[in-house]
Amino acid sequence: MRRAMAEAEVGDDVFGEDPTVLLLQERVADLLGKEAALFVPSGSMANQLAVRVHTQPGDEVICEASCHIVNYESAAAPVLSGVQLLPLQGTRGRLSPEQVTGAIRHGYYWEPQSRLVCLENTANKAGGTVLDHTEVVAVGHVVRAKGLAFHLDGARLWNAAVASGLSERELAAPFDTVSVCLSKGLGAPIGSLIAGPTELIQKAHRWRKVLGGGMRQVGILAAAGLYALENHRQDLPSDHARARRLADGLAAFVAVTIDPVSVETNIVMFDVSGMTALETVDRLKEAGVLVVPFGLQRIRATTHRDLSDADIDLALAAAGRVLA
Ligand SMILES: *Cc1c(COP(=O)(O)O)cnc(C)c1O
Repeated sequence: MRRAMAEAEVGDDVFGEDPTVLLLQERVADLLGKEAALFVPSGSMANQLAVRVHTQPGDEVICEASCHIVNYESAAAPVLSGVQLLPLQGTRGRLSPEQVTGAIRHGYYWEPQSRLVCLENTANKAGGTVLDHTEVVAVGHVVRAKGLAFHLDGARLWNAAVASGLSERELAAPFDTVSVCLSKGLGAPIGSLIAGPTELIQKAHRWRKVLGGGMRQVGILAAAGLYALENHRQDLPSDHARARRLADGLAAFVAVTIDPVSVETNIVMFDVSGMTALETVDRLKEAGVLVVPFGLQRIRATTHRDLSDADIDLALAAAGRVLA
């Protein structure tokens, strides 16, 4: 990947003259079955561009309560787009068509105007769970019948594709716009894209500049993304297998509560007892294992391409000492 970056052909992307960026945008648009795609610095910017191009100030965005847009983007949607988020309590990151139907406003002038529905696949905080595609299609029918827009936060769409056996293109089909990250499981240092209809991507291009996200000779980063798509995507099943092994190992500890069946991709959510999540995370860090607190007792572990099977054994041994 570093060699591909060093050898990348570059140009000024603010003038649309970076051939490697153009290639990446075409490649991702094609992978997702959308007309166009735009390279952006982060997944948060990709999601926020989607919110910006689909809405007007005063609109309302329906989403699932545990999603990234609600929890991890520093309240960007109200700040940058003047919209209100309506978080619905879903099941494992999922929203049913009935729930979405019930949340759509009726059009009275005293209400916010429902304008956009967002889903996340895989759903991070729910434990890297994969959305039920039939249900997503059904939600899409509701969204379209009501004249709303439909956005997918697909930061981990690659993982959802592996786990579901459906292609990224199939998983993206019900949505108007889709954001994807190259910087998560795919292992590129930086970079995300938003894909959708040309007209909306042109709007997003202007808003990217408004946010200061126009980058100059950024082909070195696009080259990393292209390399990751070509060479790293096929390794994701190993991450999933290692997450499962980690989950099965953790399940054996008395101080751990985990439902191993809930581990569908590369994320392992578990609860600890006897210590808080924060204390446990600190002690695991001392033992050389990095995990993230996700609640008072909840911890998230993630597997990635730089881990081996032996690393999982080491992590389980360390967890055994800390949680004993
Ligand atoms: C990581 C992530 C993003 C984007 O995060 P950035 O750090 O802004 O790149 C968006 N959605 C989900 C679900 C994520 O996990």
